[in-house]
Amino acid sequence: MRIEMCGVRGSTPAPGPEFARYGGNTSCVALAHDGAPSTVVLDAGTGLRRMTQVLQGEAFSGTILLGHLHWDHTHGLPFFPAGDRADAHVRVLAPAQGDTLVVLRRAMSPPHFPIGPDELNGHWRFDSIESGTHRIEGFTVFAADVPHKGGRTFGYRVSDGHATIAYISDHCPTVLGPGPGGLGEYHDAALALARDADVLIHDAQYTDEEIANKANFGHAACGYAVGLAVAAGARRVVLFHHDPSRTDDQVDAIVAGCREAGPAVVVDAAAEGMVIDLPES
Ligand SMILES: [Zn+2]
Ligand SMILES: [Zn+2]
Repeated sequence: MRIEMCGVRGSTPAPGPEFARYGGNTSCVALAHDGAPSTVVLDAGTGLRRMTQVLQGEAFSGTILLGHLHWDHTHGLPFFPAGDRADAHVRVLAPAQGDTLVVLRRAMSPPHFPIGPDELNGHWRFDSIESGTHRIEGFTVFAADVPHKGGRTFGYRVSDGHATIAYISDHCPTVLGPGPGGLGEYHDAALALARDADVLIHDAQYTDEEIANKANFGHAACGYAVGLAVAAGARRVVLFHHDPSRTDDQVDAIVAGCREAGPAVVVDAAAEGMVIDLPES
């Protein structure tokens, strides 16, 4: 399976030279079977614009799997030329909470935006997904509710039969208690999603120092992401959903700090354009 990071920023885009290395586009991760074009996209943040490059001129045919419906995970939908064309086939799946098209239209329709989701070109379908195990575009996808803030939120575990990734982009584990390290509970859903994963892509919006004052903002600390990876036996954790104020140098420092503690897991920070081929040699 190939993972391609198209947007790694949290909450709102972060343009500017001090954010250029990790990238300013919001959440969007493309998944492909080995040697094939990407057919699953995790979230439709502004990073979805990059998918058009990833597909090299081809129309998108596949599924956009939304973890939740916050702006930073949906704003890319109308800026996706590879999906907004007559020969595209796009299925959008969102955590079940009523008619997905109606719910999406609340944010994307006049007067908030010139058109609604159903006015995009091509063949678009809007469906909901329940928690549990599904077969999507040839992948096995396990969806589980995770605590975040303001709206139903899923983490996803995706496997192609050879490799497994876990994607928990927005996660507030402190609402379930302090957990063993004070950064949040390693609760059953988080452990089930990340169990023995080759790569855990996880919310790391805050530093361990910041989280005390931001515990009700809906996100996780970097140390929690690393701790969850270790507790679940994941091989690699990729820090994701960087705070929009976090400069490249600050992300570097966070990664260095996490590695310094010598965790039993490889620690990286997600950067736009990063490609991970699994299984890793
Ligand atoms: Zn987010
Ligand atoms: Zn969110």
